[in-house]
Amino acid sequence: MKVKNMDTTYWSVDKNVDNMENYPQIAQAADLLTKNEVVAFPTETVYGLGGNAKSDDAIRKIFAAKGRPSDNPLIIHIAAKSQLHEFVVQVPATAEKLMDHFWPGPLTIIFPYQKGSLSDGATAGLDTVGVRMPAHPVALAIIKKSGLPIAAPSANQSGRPSPTSALHVKEDLAGKIAAIVDGGTTGVGVESTVIDCTSEVPVILRPGGVTKEQLEEVIGEVRVDPALTDTSEKPKSPGMKYRHYAPDAPLYLVDGSREELQEFINEGKKAGLKIGVLTTKENAAFYDADYIFACGERAQLETVASSIYEALRSFNKADVDVIYSEMFPNEGVGNAIMNRLMKAAGQRVLKK
Ligand code: AMP
Ligand code: MG
Repeated sequence: MKVKNMDTTYWSVDKNVDNMENYPQIAQAADLLTKNEVVAFPTETVYGLGGNAKSDDAIRKIFAAKGRPSDNPLIIHIAAKSQLHEFVVQVPATAEKLMDHFWPGPLTIIFPYQKGSLSDGATAGLDTVGVRMPAHPVALAIIKKSGLPIAAPSANQSGRPSPTSALHVKEDLAGKIAAIVDGGTTGVGVESTVIDCTSEVPVILRPGGVTKEQLEEVIGEVRVDPALTDTSEKPKSPGMKYRHYAPDAPLYLVDGSREELQEFINEGKKAGLKIGVLTTKENAAFYDADYIFACGERAQLETVASSIYEALRSFNKADVDVIYSEMFPNEGVGNAIMNRLMKAAGQRVLKK
């Protein structure tokens, strides 16, 4: 479907106000959703591009605005557990425990899907459906006011870094969607963890805001889709096979010391290249490069997660030729950070 050039309405809301649902901007955003238009709004992970999950028209608009491959299903966002019965066949016991513990929050649960209850496009024809309840007052108020299950992928152009501010959404989607609700920068900064609860032992299909360790504390054994670490395996989550989050310039992860990373910078400089470095506050002063982004603090990986997409986008503005990035420990929220960085780098890792 061709995306028509439209005027994108822009509303700004303060996420700290009481009775969010009564604000006119929220009511107008919800009204657009009931008319099957698509609207970007903040969640606690990244900005989402929402549309009525029951409407073929709204779902087509989401895929068209993003340029998203049609075999990549959307996550359905709800504001109350009571909405589940509209499209889920049965709630497994593990899912019940996870919902009680982590919702609202950055956890998407895969359930058996009641065929025909939502637009086919939203679930990409699968017999399962991914659902989450976001922990953001603006997102919850809009969903509740609309009275609909809202399909919402990240509000970026497909392939680019996910948006953690309304400005990022504007850069990618202005003129292609009906409205953007600006509620400030998001908190977690990486997408939700996706866990499949349709199997005996639940399986993590995408690492994200809730860690494996946190999940295991609540439901015991949790497996990880082998495709997350072995790129020759086919991922169970269709979206995981695509290149994602990529900045314009090639990105390389450097498996080594900061001295070794500086050697790569020096070699690039000799070749006349403009070099960008993705590091953290602890190491930023060490490097001699054209553009350096200090992405949070290594000692607190949550701060790295919350600014990783801002970091990746900033290299486009700095107009560098090549980017070298430090690596992070593959544990806790580091699983999500490394998963996103490896995808953004097209799995390219350099070693001296
Ligand atoms: P995004 O909305 O851009 O964060 O992407 C949603 C992610 O959830 C993609 O990786 C999808 O493939 C995944 N997903 C959504 N629904 C399902 C499902 N029913 N089964 C497996 N993965 C899913
Ligand atoms: Mg996305």
